[in-house]
Amino acid sequence: MELLHLKKLDLANKKVFIRCDFNVPMDEFGNISDDRRIRSAISTINYCLDLDCAVILASHLGRPKGEVVEKYSLAPVARRLQQLLKRHVELAPGIVDDATLKLAADLPRHEVLLLENLRFEPGETKDDAELSRKLASMAEFYVNDAFGVSHRAHASVHGITKFFDTKHKAAGFLLEREVQYFGKLMGSPVRPFAVIVGGSKVSGKLEALVNLLPKVDKVFIGGGMAFTFLKQMGYEIGASLVEDELLEEAQKIMDEAKKLGVKFYLPIDVVAAQTFSEDSVSKIVTAQEIPDEWMGLDIGPATVRLYREGLNDVQTILWNGPMGVYEMDKFARGSSKIAHFVADSYSTTVVGGGDTADLVQRVGVDDDMSFISTGGGASLELLEGKVLPGVEPLMVPKTEKE
Ligand code: AMP
Repeated sequence: MELLHLKKLDLANKKVFIRCDFNVPMDEFGNISDDRRIRSAISTINYCLDLDCAVILASHLGRPKGEVVEKYSLAPVARRLQQLLKRHVELAPGIVDDATLKLAADLPRHEVLLLENLRFEPGETKDDAELSRKLASMAEFYVNDAFGVSHRAHASVHGITKFFDTKHKAAGFLLEREVQYFGKLMGSPVRPFAVIVGGSKVSGKLEALVNLLPKVDKVFIGGGMAFTFLKQMGYEIGASLVEDELLEEAQKIMDEAKKLGVKFYLPIDVVAAQTFSEDSVSKIVTAQEIPDEWMGLDIGPATVRLYREGLNDVQTILWNGPMGVYEMDKFARGSSKIAHFVADSYSTTVVGGGDTADLVQRVGVDDDMSFISTGGGASLELLEGKVLPGVEPLMVPKTEKE
């Protein structure tokens, strides 16, 4: 997939609108607890500033649902941006109100204006044409660097692109890197190629699993989703998370894996607990002997050994979804051990999904991964083989390629 390239735009001395993804987690005091998404956007912003552009930045934060909610203001983001860019960042009073439009119109080159939270505007998530038009009217160029939201047809991601021709819009460096990375993974991965899939439910990752099967050599299943497969195999899974309506689908996936010669690994033991809580009694049991009323909340030590053995010879690893309830220390060991193993391996390691990115960061091995995607839902949709609504308008049209 070839994207309209930022470096091909004639940006010098112009005004550029950059849609970023500054949807960062905050602690209870309103401090940014992880600024990876802000840092990831810096190279695109600096590139434009170095070309003497006036830069307008826009992002959403949280889910204020179309209303101005003080705690979702981008003020903390403006402050962090200021530190990272080492220059003044003006936070606009709104999004497309008269005062903000005037600030944007008068913005001198080398200056940075950050609009307030796009989702204060009800039209943002509705892909409202009027909002798109007003946002587009602020600048001569449009750049999308918000991979994390590019699977959404929202006004600042999708509608706005209609107001710029192919010489006036492009993918930012981050967006391009994400799309290229996943494209390579799905197109020509170095083999053997393994995918580790975890998380809560099969349903959330079903399409991705089905799409990945013909492309991978090995699949390792963990997390809550494992129990739907284990139940289908006739095991007693106690009170573990299960999706009964997907038992047949689980069977189809296992049959398809067999047909394709894909090695399909399921947990052989689990850490089971009596209640879903950190201070619950817990014990390690085999996957075939989970007691009634107990629930499997992590993969067990034998599974960790098995998965390590299976992952030993692979060259590419894609990981999406934790192996257990990693938010509770008691059920984080499986995920943590797999994270260390993946990080230490010499293969290309790609981590997708907000939870998995959070997990590898908590474990402290994020720097050892080849690539960590900034977008959970968006990366999953790429793995499902979909073209994202925010990316499609930024693809080089066929006629221009020839
Ligand atoms: P997902 O959003 O589908 O990737 O799921 C991530 C969530 O799955 C995390 O919050 C984990 O706590 C949860 N999870 C992982 N393993 C289990 C399990 N065995 N039972 C219940 N929830 C789980």
